[in-house]
Parts: sequence; C-alpha cells; structure tokens
Amino acid sequence: MRAGPSQEDIRRHNLGALLRHVHLGGPISRAELTAKMGLNRSTIMALTSDLTAAGLVREELPRETGRAGRPSLVVRPESSRVYVFAFDVGPDRLAAARVGLGGAILDRRETSRRRVPFDLDELAGALAGFARQMRRKTRADTVCVGAAAAVSGGVRRDDGVIMFGPNLGAEAVPFGEELGRRLGLGLPVSVGNDANLAALAEHSRGVAVAVRDLIYLHGDVGIGGGIITGGHLLGGHDGYGGEVGHMVVNPGGRPCGCGSRGCLEAEVGERALLEAAGRGPGPAPAGEPVGRQGREAVRAVVDAADRGDIVAQEALKRVGDWLGLGVANLVNIFNPEMVIFGGMLREVYLGSAAQVRSRLATHAMGPQRERLRLRTSALADDATLVGAAELAFAHVLADPLEVLARVTG
Ligand SMILES: [Zn+2]
Repeated sequence: MRAGPSQEDIRRHNLGALLRHVHLGGPISRAELTAKMGLNRSTIMALTSDLTAAGLVREELPRETGRAGRPSLVVRPESSRVYVFAFDVGPDRLAAARVGLGGAILDRRETSRRRVPFDLDELAGALAGFARQMRRKTRADTVCVGAAAAVSGGVRRDDGVIMFGPNLGAEAVPFGEELGRRLGLGLPVSVGNDANLAALAEHSRGVAVAVRDLIYLHGDVGIGGGIITGGHLLGGHDGYGGEVGHMVVNPGGRPCGCGSRGCLEAEVGERALLEAAGRGPGPAPAGEPVGRQGREAVRAVVDAADRGDIVAQEALKRVGDWLGLGVANLVNIFNPEMVIFGGMLREVYLGSAAQVRSRLATHAMGPQRERLRLRTSALADDATLVGAAELAFAHVLADPLEVLARVTG
C-alpha cells in the first residue's frame, strides 16, 4: 500500500496555495482565505504566521471595516521586500524588470536591439548589467528569490537552451546558464518561450483571468502562440508546442524563415504587412519619419489606413484575411473561449477586425464560434515580462519556506 501525503507535504501545499492567493489576488482577509481555501480558521492562522515569520507576507488590521465586531486581519504580500528579476529578449528589444511578490513592477530597464545574429556575451552582459543597476537601488533587507527570461524562440525545458530562434538569429544557445552565471545571484535562470509566457501572464493577471481555454497570438517579426487548455499550457512532448506561426494557411504562398511557404507568420508577420503596404525594405517614403521595420513601422501602416490611405487599408485587409483563416483553424481544433492578440498583432487586429471576423464566420464551425471572444492583450508590451516574472515566482509558490530559507541562508 502506498503511503498518502505526509503532514509536511500537506503543510507545504497549503503554504504555497495561500501564498498564491495573496500573490495573484492581492491583499485578502483571513476570513476570505478561510472560505476560499476550505480550511479552518486555526489552520489559516498557522499558515499565515509561518509566511509572516519568513517575511513573505505581513498581516494588518483592515483600514475600514464598517462592521461591528473584531475585524479579520488582512494578509498582504511583502511586495517591496521579496522580488524576482524578469527579462525579455525580443527581436527589437531587451528588457529587464524587478518585480515584487504580488506582481508589481518595481523597477525596469529597456533598450532597443539591432536585428543581428544572437551575441550571447553581449546580450547576457547587457541584461545582467540592468539587474545590477536595479539591485544597487534596493534596500538592504530585500531578497531576490528567482530569475527568469522570456525569449522569442523555442527553449529546451530542462536547461534553458534556446534551440531555435530564427528571428533572434539564435540556434542552440545556452542562454539560461550564461545569464545565471553573469547575474551571480546563486540562482538558476528559468527560460521560456515569450508567447507561452505572455499567454500565462494574460491568464493569471491580464484579460483572461478565470478563462480556462484560450489562445494567445504574439506578433513581432514572426508570430508565436501560447495555447492554454483546461487551465494548462499546452507544451507538447518536448515543450515546443504552440508554434502556430508555422501553421500553413497558404500553400505555395510567401517563403517563411523556417524554410516552408505560406506559414501564418509569412502571410501575416511584419514583413508581409509592410511589403503589402508598399513599405518593404529600402529608404523611407518621402515625408515618412518612421523606420522601415519594427513596431513603429507597423503602427504607421495602421495609422495611415485610419486616415484613409487606400494602399495601407488593402494591406491590412490582405493580412487580416490570412490572420482570420489561421484563427478559424485554431478555433476549430481547440474550441477556445478567448483568442488574444498581442505584440504587434494588437495593432494589426484592431486594423483588420472585420476581415478576421468575416473569415471566422466562413471557416469556423458554428458552435465553436458562437461564444468565442476576440480580445487584445491587456498587459500589452509588458505581457512577456510579466510572464517571465510568474515563471520566476513559480518555485517560490511551490515551496515558499524552503526557497526562502535557501536564498537567505
Ligand atoms: Zn514557417
């Protein structure tokens, strides 16, 4: 006969669950925790005492109860004391943030990145430099409990190696290990795919809280995806699942960076839109201050379409058509409650929503389509960073006291 979980296992699980409530939901009274967690009052009191002693939460009297009787203490995350470092490596930017328990971004640094092959020394050096700058500004009693990075590419789960990242110019790069070494915090750096992490961020803190089935589409140079089904991220056998950008929507269509043709990313990505709008590589059109690539260039096409520029409108229509076809396929397969457009796809979707809806009406099956909600990312350009922070906090939420003892020991 197999032994059930020990008292210690149950306590560890409950500590993590309580901390997760406070981390994701913000300040909450002991009475509410008792109701939400289905535990008795003395157990909740013991758990909050342990977390308070570890410096992860603090308990305060509520500011105003308006009720008679003894008020229930409110449990708050120690946001300014306990934090993680979150990093984002995209084709066009490097970002780093110090994120407190509870999810507040306490400090941040950002710089643009040139689209050149991945230089591990330079990138890890720049990000570690940002972290050092932010760390110098912290008080002596603060504690860093984790670090994680979102990267635009496929990441090997076990060791944070970027296996493929055509839009970063990366292949088999030991990024997590090198960034961890340069940070010098004695902490491993978890690494995840940016669209996967942004999907989790929207699910835990963004537009899709309480939505259990969603698809997040992230546009930059290419198109990444994060698929959450039944509340769980779909990773596939090796963790590379969700590469919806390479779903073929137009056989024989535009060549794709992956070597195939007519992938969603080849028909909808930045280059497809800019070329369709007559703004492909080359000098900027007369009177146009905007560069020929990146988010600003995409935004300029959407703005031009809004102002009545027919070429820009046609370009958005064309791209919106392919985007709608891709979304229809995904809706038929996964039956999501919500599809979220993030990164540069926020702008593209807002400029082509009619085409996307029209394709869905034609190609998505009725029952899957009826209750589907199409939304833009609520976390916007912070979605990937917020997702990386959640990845960094994950092990603290799994075993709060053990992790804190290790990092402060
Ligand atoms: Zn492709």
